[in-house]
Amino acid sequence: MEKRLEDDLIGRYPELFRQSKQNPVGVPYWGLQCGVGWLTLVDKLCSAIQGRINNMNSLQVTIIQIKEKDGVLRISHLGGDDYTDGLIDMTQELSSCICEVCGLPGIRKKLVLNWVKTLCEACEKKLNEGI
Ligand SMILES: [Zn+2]
Repeated sequence: MEKRLEDDLIGRYPELFRQSKQNPVGVPYWGLQCGVGWLTLVDKLCSAIQGRINNMNSLQVTIIQIKEKDGVLRISHLGGDDYTDGLIDMTQELSSCICEVCGLPGIRKKLVLNWVKTLCEACEKKLNEGI
């Protein structure tokens, strides 16, 4: 994902990303390592988590890393409760049916070199042509 888009997301949720380079507080932050197709999904997740923290006046959650693994989102965080864990589980599940490249509906596909990615037909074709 472009640095500018990652910086925009961090700027919208500075409390969630207080481990980022912009807001260092000791625990390493490994960044946002996934395609732009999942940006809206991640943005909605952050909004839901931070909105609940603000409404319930509950302890702050900290996001450590957002990455792609085996074709789906993986999100590491500190803090939160069962509700937070449920939101994150649901987001990770939804990523398995949204193209990581463009955000259109997609499915998990095995590509050359045994890579697994969640892609739409058009992005799979482009990726295979580029390899
Ligand atoms: Zn696509």
